[in-house]
Amino acid sequence: MNVIEAFNREHNTVHSENGLDILFIRNYEAVRISALISYDVIILEYHDPSGAGDLLNKIRAASYEDVYLIPCFLLKLDAQVDPLHLALADGIVERVSIASHHSIVERIISVKNDYKAIKTDFVGRQVVLKLIRFLHSRDIRLKPVPSSNTLMGYSFPFLDANSHLHDYQENIEILKVSVDRGFLSPHFEDVVHLCSNCGSGFINYREVCPKCGTRKHFSEYSIHHFVCGYVGPESDFFQDKKLVCPKCNRQLRHIGVDYDKPSRISECENGHVFQEPEIETYCFNCGDTNKLESIIDYEINTYELTATGVSMALSGITKEESNIEEIDGVVSFSVFKTLLKVEAERRKLTKGSVSVSYISFLFTPKTIKAHLDSYDQFTHQIAALVRNLLQPTEVLTLANDDTFLVMSPEADMKETKKRLQELSSKLKSVLQKQFETTDNDRILVDSFEMEDKESVGILEQINEHINIL
Ligand SMILES: [Zn+2]
Ligand SMILES: [Zn+2]
Ligand SMILES: [Zn+2]
Repeated sequence: MNVIEAFNREHNTVHSENGLDILFIRNYEAVRISALISYDVIILEYHDPSGAGDLLNKIRAASYEDVYLIPCFLLKLDAQVDPLHLALADGIVERVSIASHHSIVERIISVKNDYKAIKTDFVGRQVVLKLIRFLHSRDIRLKPVPSSNTLMGYSFPFLDANSHLHDYQENIEILKVSVDRGFLSPHFEDVVHLCSNCGSGFINYREVCPKCGTRKHFSEYSIHHFVCGYVGPESDFFQDKKLVCPKCNRQLRHIGVDYDKPSRISECENGHVFQEPEIETYCFNCGDTNKLESIIDYEINTYELTATGVSMALSGITKEESNIEEIDGVVSFSVFKTLLKVEAERRKLTKGSVSVSYISFLFTPKTIKAHLDSYDQFTHQIAALVRNLLQPTEVLTLANDDTFLVMSPEADMKETKKRLQELSSKLKSVLQKQFETTDNDRILVDSFEMEDKESVGILEQINEHINIL
Protein backbone atom coordinates (compact mmCIF):
# COMPACT_ATOMS: atom_id res chain seq x y z
CA MET A 1 0.00 0.00 0.00
CA ASN A 2 1.49 3.39 -0.90
CA VAL A 3 1.21 6.55 1.17
CA ILE A 4 -1.58 8.08 -0.89
CA GLU A 5 -3.65 4.93 -0.62
CA ALA A 6 -3.05 4.73 3.12
CA PHE A 7 -4.79 8.05 3.64
CA ASN A 8 -7.47 7.53 1.10
CA ARG A 9 -10.72 6.37 2.67
CA GLU A 10 -12.57 6.31 -0.62
CA HIS A 11 -11.62 2.77 -1.47
CA ASN A 12 -11.78 -0.53 0.29
CA THR A 13 -8.86 -2.78 -0.50
CA VAL A 14 -8.36 -6.52 -0.75
CA HIS A 15 -5.33 -8.09 0.88
CA SER A 16 -4.14 -11.63 0.68
CA GLU A 17 -2.72 -13.46 3.67
CA ASN A 18 -2.03 -17.19 3.79
CA GLY A 19 -4.30 -17.70 0.85
CA LEU A 20 -7.21 -15.87 2.49
CA ASP A 21 -8.84 -12.83 0.92
CA ILE A 22 -9.18 -10.06 3.47
CA LEU A 23 -11.42 -7.12 2.68
CA PHE A 24 -10.13 -4.02 4.44
CA ILE A 25 -13.06 -1.65 4.82
CA ARG A 26 -12.45 2.05 5.31
CA ASN A 27 -15.40 3.38 3.36
CA TYR A 28 -18.48 1.92 5.05
CA GLU A 29 -20.85 3.35 2.46
CA ALA A 30 -19.18 1.45 -0.37
CA VAL A 31 -19.98 -1.93 1.19
CA ARG A 32 -22.67 -4.10 -0.30
CA ILE A 33 -23.59 -6.69 2.33
CA SER A 34 -24.39 -9.48 -0.13
CA ALA A 35 -21.03 -8.93 -1.89
CA LEU A 36 -19.16 -9.83 1.32
CA ILE A 37 -19.78 -13.43 0.35
CA SER A 38 -16.65 -13.21 -1.86
CA TYR A 39 -14.22 -12.61 1.03
CA ASP A 40 -12.84 -14.83 3.77
CA VAL A 41 -12.22 -12.17 6.41
CA ILE A 42 -13.17 -8.57 7.03
CA ILE A 43 -11.10 -5.94 8.76
CA LEU A 44 -13.09 -2.85 9.57
CA GLU A 45 -11.28 0.39 10.26
CA TYR A 46 -12.83 1.81 13.42
CA HIS A 47 -12.65 5.50 12.53
CA ASP A 48 -16.37 6.14 12.91
CA PRO A 49 -17.77 4.03 15.77
CA SER A 50 -21.44 4.53 14.93
CA GLY A 51 -20.94 3.80 11.22
CA ALA A 52 -18.87 0.73 12.10
CA GLY A 53 -21.60 -0.41 14.51
CA ASP A 54 -24.29 -0.06 11.82
CA LEU A 55 -22.23 -2.10 9.40
CA LEU A 56 -21.51 -4.83 11.97
CA ASN A 57 -25.21 -5.05 12.75
CA LYS A 58 -26.04 -5.44 9.06
CA ILE A 59 -23.40 -8.15 8.60
CA ARG A 60 -24.61 -10.20 11.57
CA ALA A 61 -28.24 -9.72 10.47
CA ALA A 62 -27.60 -11.14 6.98
CA SER A 63 -29.26 -14.44 6.16
CA TYR A 64 -26.35 -16.20 4.41
CA GLU A 65 -23.96 -18.23 6.53
CA ASP A 66 -21.07 -16.87 4.44
CA VAL A 67 -21.96 -13.34 5.47
CA TYR A 68 -23.32 -13.43 9.02
CA LEU A 69 -20.58 -15.83 10.16
CA ILE A 70 -17.70 -14.05 8.41
CA PRO A 71 -14.67 -13.45 10.67
CA CYS A 72 -14.61 -9.74 11.31
CA PHE A 73 -11.95 -7.69 13.08
CA LEU A 74 -11.83 -4.06 14.08
CA LEU A 75 -8.75 -2.02 13.26
CA LYS A 76 -8.57 0.21 16.28
CA LEU A 77 -7.45 3.79 15.81
CA ASP A 78 -7.89 6.34 18.58
CA ALA A 79 -11.50 5.66 19.44
CA GLN A 80 -12.27 3.23 22.25
CA VAL A 81 -14.14 0.23 20.91
CA ASP A 82 -17.74 0.13 22.12
CA PRO A 83 -18.31 -3.21 23.97
CA LEU A 84 -21.54 -3.63 21.96
CA HIS A 85 -19.48 -3.55 18.75
CA LEU A 86 -16.77 -5.79 20.15
CA ALA A 87 -19.42 -8.41 20.91
CA LEU A 88 -20.31 -8.47 17.20
CA ALA A 89 -16.70 -8.64 16.05
CA ASP A 90 -14.10 -11.36 16.50
CA GLY A 91 -11.39 -9.19 17.93
CA ILE A 92 -9.27 -6.10 17.56
CA VAL A 93 -6.22 -5.79 15.31
CA GLU A 94 -3.50 -3.17 15.26
CA ARG A 95 -2.73 -3.44 11.57
CA VAL A 96 -4.21 -4.97 8.43
CA SER A 97 -3.26 -8.53 9.27
CA ILE A 98 -4.92 -11.45 10.97
CA ALA A 99 -1.68 -13.12 12.04
CA SER A 100 -2.57 -12.68 15.73
CA HIS A 101 -5.98 -14.31 15.25
CA HIS A 102 -5.05 -17.12 12.97
CA SER A 103 -6.56 -20.02 14.91
CA ILE A 104 -10.00 -18.47 15.41
CA VAL A 105 -10.18 -17.51 11.72
CA GLU A 106 -9.31 -21.08 10.74
CA ARG A 107 -11.93 -22.49 13.06
CA ILE A 108 -14.67 -20.18 11.79
CA ILE A 109 -13.89 -20.85 8.14
CA SER A 110 -13.76 -24.61 8.57
CA VAL A 111 -16.94 -24.79 10.67
CA LYS A 112 -18.70 -22.45 8.24
CA ASN A 113 -17.86 -24.82 5.40
CA ASP A 114 -19.29 -27.72 7.39
CA TYR A 115 -22.55 -25.82 7.77
CA LYS A 116 -22.64 -25.05 4.05
CA ALA A 117 -22.38 -28.72 3.18
CA ILE A 118 -25.59 -29.30 5.09
CA LYS A 119 -28.95 -28.83 3.51
CA THR A 120 -30.76 -27.53 6.53
CA ASP A 121 -34.39 -28.34 7.10
CA PHE A 122 -34.50 -26.06 10.11
CA VAL A 123 -37.74 -24.21 9.70
CA GLY A 124 -38.11 -22.93 13.25
CA ARG A 125 -37.09 -19.45 14.27
CA GLN A 126 -34.14 -18.79 11.98
CA VAL A 127 -32.64 -16.47 14.57
CA VAL A 128 -32.23 -19.41 16.92
CA LEU A 129 -30.23 -21.39 14.34
CA LYS A 130 -28.18 -18.30 13.47
CA LEU A 131 -27.41 -17.58 17.10
CA ILE A 132 -26.42 -21.15 17.75
CA ARG A 133 -24.15 -21.25 14.71
CA PHE A 134 -22.59 -17.92 15.61
CA LEU A 135 -21.73 -19.20 19.09
CA HIS A 136 -20.58 -22.59 17.85
CA SER A 137 -18.37 -21.28 15.02
CA ARG A 138 -16.52 -19.10 17.55
CA ASP A 139 -16.76 -21.50 20.46
CA ILE A 140 -18.02 -18.70 22.69
CA ARG A 141 -20.84 -18.07 25.12
CA LEU A 142 -23.52 -15.47 24.61
CA LYS A 143 -22.69 -12.76 27.11
CA PRO A 144 -24.90 -9.88 28.23
CA VAL A 145 -23.21 -6.50 27.63
CA PRO A 146 -24.14 -3.71 30.05
CA SER A 147 -25.36 -0.74 28.08
CA SER A 148 -27.27 2.41 28.92
CA ASN A 149 -28.49 2.48 25.31
CA THR A 150 -30.79 -0.48 25.81
CA LEU A 151 -34.08 -0.43 27.65
CA MET A 152 -33.18 -3.37 29.86
CA GLY A 153 -29.70 -2.16 30.83
CA TYR A 154 -28.10 -5.24 29.26
CA SER A 155 -27.83 -6.03 25.61
CA PHE A 156 -27.23 -9.22 23.63
CA PRO A 157 -25.80 -7.52 20.53
CA PHE A 158 -26.13 -10.51 18.20
CA LEU A 159 -29.82 -10.83 19.06
CA ASP A 160 -30.36 -7.09 18.79
CA ALA A 161 -28.87 -7.14 15.29
CA ASN A 162 -31.30 -9.89 14.35
CA SER A 163 -34.40 -8.65 16.12
CA HIS A 164 -37.18 -7.64 13.77
CA LEU A 165 -39.00 -5.36 16.10
CA HIS A 166 -35.90 -4.06 17.88
CA ASP A 167 -37.74 -5.14 20.91
CA TYR A 168 -36.23 -6.67 24.00
CA GLN A 169 -39.37 -8.87 24.35
CA GLU A 170 -38.43 -10.68 21.17
CA ASN A 171 -34.94 -11.40 22.53
CA ILE A 172 -36.36 -12.66 25.82
CA GLU A 173 -38.65 -14.98 23.89
CA ILE A 174 -35.81 -16.31 21.70
CA LEU A 175 -33.62 -17.01 24.71
CA LYS A 176 -36.50 -18.72 26.48
CA VAL A 177 -37.29 -20.93 23.49
CA SER A 178 -33.60 -21.85 23.13
CA VAL A 179 -33.36 -22.81 26.78
CA ASP A 180 -36.72 -24.65 26.74
CA ARG A 181 -35.57 -26.69 23.76
CA GLY A 182 -32.31 -27.53 25.43
CA PHE A 183 -30.00 -25.69 22.96
CA LEU A 184 -28.65 -23.22 25.51
CA SER A 185 -28.01 -23.46 29.20
CA PRO A 186 -28.18 -20.32 31.35
CA HIS A 187 -25.56 -19.19 33.89
CA PHE A 188 -26.70 -16.55 36.33
CA GLU A 189 -25.18 -13.07 36.02
CA ASP A 190 -27.57 -10.51 37.47
CA VAL A 191 -31.19 -9.59 38.08
CA VAL A 192 -32.62 -6.44 36.54
CA HIS A 193 -35.75 -4.66 37.67
CA LEU A 194 -38.02 -3.85 34.78
CA CYS A 195 -41.16 -1.79 34.28
CA SER A 196 -44.11 -4.16 33.94
CA ASN A 197 -45.64 -1.90 31.34
CA CYS A 198 -42.77 -1.46 28.86
CA GLY A 199 -39.85 -3.53 30.10
CA SER A 200 -37.55 -0.59 30.70
CA GLY A 201 -35.00 -0.74 33.49
CA PHE A 202 -34.73 3.05 33.72
CA ILE A 203 -36.83 3.50 36.81
CA ASN A 204 -36.99 6.07 39.58
CA TYR A 205 -37.82 4.69 43.00
CA ARG A 206 -39.77 7.38 44.83
CA GLU A 207 -40.49 7.65 48.54
CA VAL A 208 -44.03 8.92 48.96
CA CYS A 209 -46.39 9.70 51.86
CA PRO A 210 -48.43 6.54 52.55
CA LYS A 211 -51.54 8.65 53.20
CA CYS A 212 -51.68 11.20 50.39
CA GLY A 213 -48.94 9.98 48.02
CA THR A 214 -47.04 13.26 47.84
CA ARG A 215 -43.33 13.07 47.09
CA LYS A 216 -42.68 16.19 49.16
CA HIS A 217 -41.91 15.28 52.72
CA PHE A 218 -39.32 15.95 55.33
CA SER A 219 -37.87 13.37 57.65
CA GLU A 220 -35.70 13.53 60.71
CA TYR A 221 -34.58 11.33 63.58
CA SER A 222 -36.16 11.49 66.98
CA ILE A 223 -33.78 11.67 69.97
CA HIS A 224 -34.26 9.95 73.31
CA HIS A 225 -32.27 11.62 76.10
CA PHE A 226 -31.66 8.79 78.64
CA VAL A 227 -30.71 11.15 81.47
CA CYS A 228 -34.10 12.89 81.74
CA GLY A 229 -36.18 10.60 79.56
CA TYR A 230 -37.19 13.31 77.05
CA VAL A 231 -38.03 12.21 73.47
CA GLY A 232 -38.32 14.77 70.67
CA PRO A 233 -37.30 15.55 67.07
CA GLU A 234 -33.56 16.06 66.45
CA SER A 235 -34.08 19.66 65.32
CA ASP A 236 -35.30 20.62 68.82
CA PHE A 237 -31.86 19.63 70.18
CA PHE A 238 -29.71 21.78 67.84
CA GLN A 239 -28.06 24.68 69.64
CA ASP A 240 -24.89 26.36 68.23
CA LYS A 241 -23.79 23.22 66.34
CA LYS A 242 -24.19 21.17 69.51
CA LEU A 243 -26.96 18.91 70.66
CA VAL A 244 -28.56 20.21 73.84
CA CYS A 245 -31.63 18.70 75.52
CA PRO A 246 -34.48 21.23 75.41
CA LYS A 247 -35.94 19.80 78.64
CA CYS A 248 -32.96 19.51 81.01
CA ASN A 249 -30.48 21.76 79.14
CA ARG A 250 -27.66 19.19 79.39
CA GLN A 251 -25.37 18.77 76.40
CA LEU A 252 -25.63 15.39 74.68
CA ARG A 253 -22.33 13.44 74.63
CA HIS A 254 -22.20 10.05 72.99
CA ILE A 255 -24.86 8.27 71.01
CA GLY A 256 -25.66 4.97 72.69
CA VAL A 257 -24.28 6.23 76.03
CA ASP A 258 -26.45 9.14 77.14
CA TYR A 259 -28.86 9.34 74.21
CA ASP A 260 -30.21 7.34 71.27
CA LYS A 261 -31.93 7.90 67.92
CA PRO A 262 -34.72 5.32 68.15
CA SER A 263 -36.59 6.18 64.96
CA ARG A 264 -36.97 8.35 61.93
CA ILE A 265 -40.12 10.38 61.63
CA SER A 266 -41.43 11.89 58.40
CA GLU A 267 -43.95 14.60 57.83
CA CYS A 268 -45.41 15.39 54.43
CA GLU A 269 -46.36 18.77 53.02
CA ASN A 270 -49.96 18.01 54.00
CA GLY A 271 -49.12 17.37 57.63
CA HIS A 272 -49.27 13.56 57.63
CA VAL A 273 -46.79 12.05 60.07
CA PHE A 274 -45.40 8.59 59.33
CA GLN A 275 -42.36 6.42 59.99
CA GLU A 276 -41.78 4.54 56.72
CA PRO A 277 -42.58 6.18 53.40
CA GLU A 278 -44.09 4.01 50.70
CA ILE A 279 -42.02 3.23 47.60
CA GLU A 280 -43.54 4.14 44.28
CA THR A 281 -41.91 3.48 40.91
CA TYR A 282 -41.80 5.89 38.01
CA CYS A 283 -40.72 4.62 34.59
CA PHE A 284 -38.67 7.19 32.66
CA ASN A 285 -39.43 5.37 29.42
CA CYS A 286 -43.23 5.06 29.40
CA GLY A 287 -44.15 7.36 32.28
CA ASP A 288 -45.96 4.61 34.17
CA THR A 289 -46.29 5.20 37.91
CA ASN A 290 -46.76 2.02 39.87
CA LYS A 291 -46.32 0.14 43.10
CA LEU A 292 -42.98 -1.45 43.91
CA GLU A 293 -44.56 -4.93 43.67
CA SER A 294 -45.33 -4.35 39.98
CA ILE A 295 -41.64 -4.29 39.05
CA ILE A 296 -40.52 -7.41 37.19
CA ASP A 297 -37.35 -9.14 38.33
CA TYR A 298 -35.72 -10.51 35.18
CA GLU A 299 -32.73 -12.79 35.35
CA ILE A 300 -29.80 -11.88 33.14
CA ASN A 301 -27.69 -14.88 32.18
CA THR A 302 -24.71 -15.84 30.14
CA TYR A 303 -25.78 -18.61 27.76
CA GLU A 304 -23.69 -21.62 26.90
CA LEU A 305 -24.28 -24.01 24.02
CA THR A 306 -25.38 -27.45 25.17
CA ALA A 307 -24.52 -30.72 23.41
CA THR A 308 -27.99 -30.58 21.85
CA GLY A 309 -27.23 -27.04 20.70
CA VAL A 310 -23.96 -28.11 19.11
CA SER A 311 -25.59 -30.98 17.29
CA MET A 312 -28.30 -28.63 16.06
CA ALA A 313 -25.64 -26.18 14.84
CA LEU A 314 -23.97 -28.97 12.88
CA SER A 315 -27.03 -30.72 11.54
CA GLY A 316 -29.38 -27.79 11.19
CA ILE A 317 -32.02 -30.32 12.03
CA THR A 318 -34.10 -30.33 15.15
CA LYS A 319 -35.85 -33.59 14.34
CA GLU A 320 -36.87 -35.82 11.48
CA GLU A 321 -38.70 -34.12 8.70
CA SER A 322 -42.37 -34.88 8.83
CA ASN A 323 -44.52 -35.58 5.84
CA ILE A 324 -47.39 -33.55 7.10
CA GLU A 325 -49.07 -33.57 3.70
CA GLU A 326 -49.91 -37.21 4.25
CA ILE A 327 -52.67 -36.17 6.60
CA ASP A 328 -56.06 -35.60 5.01
CA GLY A 329 -56.92 -31.95 4.66
CA VAL A 330 -53.42 -30.67 5.48
CA VAL A 331 -51.40 -29.08 2.70
CA SER A 332 -47.68 -28.30 2.39
CA PHE A 333 -46.56 -24.75 3.08
CA SER A 334 -45.85 -24.09 -0.60
CA VAL A 335 -49.32 -25.26 -1.60
CA PHE A 336 -50.73 -23.07 1.18
CA LYS A 337 -48.94 -20.03 -0.26
CA THR A 338 -50.30 -20.80 -3.72
CA LEU A 339 -53.84 -21.15 -2.41
CA LEU A 340 -53.41 -17.90 -0.54
CA LYS A 341 -52.41 -16.17 -3.77
CA VAL A 342 -55.49 -17.60 -5.50
CA GLU A 343 -57.68 -16.32 -2.68
CA ALA A 344 -56.06 -12.91 -2.90
CA GLU A 345 -56.90 -12.76 -6.59
CA ARG A 346 -60.45 -13.92 -5.98
CA ARG A 347 -60.84 -11.37 -3.25
CA LYS A 348 -60.05 -8.58 -5.72
CA LEU A 349 -63.03 -9.69 -7.83
CA THR A 350 -65.54 -10.53 -5.14
CA LYS A 351 -64.45 -8.06 -2.45
CA GLY A 352 -64.80 -10.94 -0.04
CA SER A 353 -62.49 -11.31 2.89
CA VAL A 354 -59.76 -13.80 3.69
CA SER A 355 -58.18 -14.26 7.04
CA VAL A 356 -55.13 -16.21 8.09
CA SER A 357 -54.60 -17.40 11.65
CA TYR A 358 -51.72 -19.00 13.39
CA ILE A 359 -51.90 -21.72 16.03
CA SER A 360 -48.54 -21.97 17.72
CA PHE A 361 -47.59 -24.59 20.29
CA LEU A 362 -45.07 -23.70 22.95
CA PHE A 363 -44.43 -27.02 24.61
CA THR A 364 -42.42 -27.37 27.78
CA PRO A 365 -39.10 -29.25 27.61
CA LYS A 366 -40.81 -32.04 29.55
CA THR A 367 -43.50 -32.51 26.91
CA ILE A 368 -40.98 -32.30 24.08
CA LYS A 369 -38.78 -34.88 25.76
CA ALA A 370 -41.73 -37.22 26.35
CA HIS A 371 -42.47 -37.25 22.61
CA LEU A 372 -39.00 -36.82 21.20
CA ASP A 373 -38.70 -40.37 19.86
CA SER A 374 -41.97 -40.13 17.99
CA TYR A 375 -42.20 -36.39 17.44
CA ASP A 376 -43.50 -36.83 13.89
CA GLN A 377 -46.33 -38.95 15.08
CA PHE A 378 -47.04 -36.45 17.86
CA THR A 379 -47.20 -33.58 15.33
CA HIS A 380 -49.39 -35.68 13.04
CA GLN A 381 -51.81 -36.43 15.83
CA ILE A 382 -52.02 -32.75 16.74
CA ALA A 383 -52.53 -31.82 13.09
CA ALA A 384 -55.38 -34.32 12.85
CA LEU A 385 -56.95 -32.88 16.01
CA VAL A 386 -56.70 -29.32 14.67
CA ARG A 387 -58.08 -30.41 11.30
CA ASN A 388 -61.11 -31.97 12.99
CA LEU A 389 -61.91 -28.75 14.81
CA LEU A 390 -61.76 -26.61 11.66
CA GLN A 391 -64.44 -25.93 9.09
CA PRO A 392 -64.30 -27.92 5.82
CA THR A 393 -63.49 -24.84 3.71
CA GLU A 394 -60.51 -23.91 5.81
CA VAL A 395 -56.97 -24.80 4.70
CA LEU A 396 -54.41 -26.01 7.19
CA THR A 397 -50.61 -26.14 6.90
CA LEU A 398 -47.65 -26.62 9.20
CA ALA A 399 -45.51 -23.49 8.77
CA ASN A 400 -42.70 -24.67 10.99
CA ASP A 401 -42.16 -27.35 13.59
CA ASP A 402 -44.55 -25.83 16.10
CA THR A 403 -46.83 -23.48 14.22
CA PHE A 404 -49.86 -24.17 12.07
CA LEU A 405 -51.42 -21.65 9.70
CA VAL A 406 -55.10 -21.67 8.87
CA MET A 407 -56.62 -19.87 5.90
CA SER A 408 -60.28 -19.04 6.32
CA PRO A 409 -61.90 -17.89 3.06
CA GLU A 410 -65.03 -15.76 3.07
CA ALA A 411 -64.97 -15.48 6.82
CA ASP A 412 -65.51 -12.59 9.15
CA MET A 413 -62.25 -11.91 10.94
CA LYS A 414 -63.82 -11.27 14.34
CA GLU A 415 -65.82 -14.48 14.19
CA THR A 416 -62.79 -16.45 13.06
CA LYS A 417 -60.77 -14.99 15.89
CA LYS A 418 -63.40 -15.98 18.43
CA ARG A 419 -63.87 -19.45 16.97
CA LEU A 420 -60.13 -20.15 16.98
CA GLN A 421 -59.82 -18.97 20.57
CA GLU A 422 -62.48 -21.52 21.48
CA LEU A 423 -60.70 -24.10 19.36
CA SER A 424 -57.48 -23.52 21.25
CA SER A 425 -59.09 -24.12 24.64
CA LYS A 426 -60.75 -27.29 23.33
CA LEU A 427 -57.41 -28.38 21.94
CA LYS A 428 -55.75 -27.67 25.23
CA SER A 429 -58.09 -29.94 27.16
CA VAL A 430 -57.86 -32.71 24.55
CA LEU A 431 -54.06 -32.55 24.68
CA GLN A 432 -54.13 -32.68 28.44
CA LYS A 433 -56.29 -35.81 28.34
CA GLN A 434 -54.47 -37.58 25.51
CA PHE A 435 -50.87 -36.51 26.02
CA GLU A 436 -50.79 -35.46 29.65
CA THR A 437 -49.69 -31.93 28.84
CA THR A 438 -50.06 -29.28 31.53
CA ASP A 439 -51.10 -25.64 31.74
CA ASN A 440 -47.47 -24.73 31.08
CA ASP A 441 -47.78 -26.08 27.55
CA ARG A 442 -49.09 -23.01 25.84
CA ILE A 443 -51.06 -22.56 22.64
CA LEU A 444 -50.91 -19.13 21.02
CA VAL A 445 -53.62 -18.18 18.55
CA ASP A 446 -54.25 -15.03 16.55
CA SER A 447 -56.02 -14.11 13.32
CA PHE A 448 -55.22 -11.54 10.65
CA GLU A 449 -57.27 -10.16 7.81
CA MET A 450 -55.75 -9.75 4.38
CA GLU A 451 -55.55 -6.00 4.07
CA ASP A 452 -53.69 -5.35 0.85
CA LYS A 453 -53.99 -7.16 -2.43
CA GLU A 454 -50.76 -9.04 -1.87
CA SER A 455 -50.89 -12.43 -0.25
CA VAL A 456 -47.32 -12.12 1.03
CA GLY A 457 -48.27 -9.06 3.10
CA ILE A 458 -50.39 -11.07 5.48
CA LEU A 459 -47.65 -13.67 6.00
CA GLU A 460 -45.16 -10.92 6.77
CA GLN A 461 -47.63 -9.46 9.23
CA ILE A 462 -47.90 -12.83 10.97
CA ASN A 463 -44.15 -13.27 10.87
CA GLU A 464 -43.71 -10.01 12.72
CA HIS A 465 -45.74 -11.52 15.52
CA ILE A 466 -44.23 -14.95 15.81
CA ASN A 467 -41.21 -15.09 13.51
CA ILE A 468 -41.99 -18.33 11.74
CA LEU A 469 -40.75 -17.87 8.23
ZN1 LIG B 1 -49.40 13.09 53.15
ZN1 LIG C 1 -32.71 15.84 78.97
ZN1 LIG D 1 -42.30 1.68 31.46
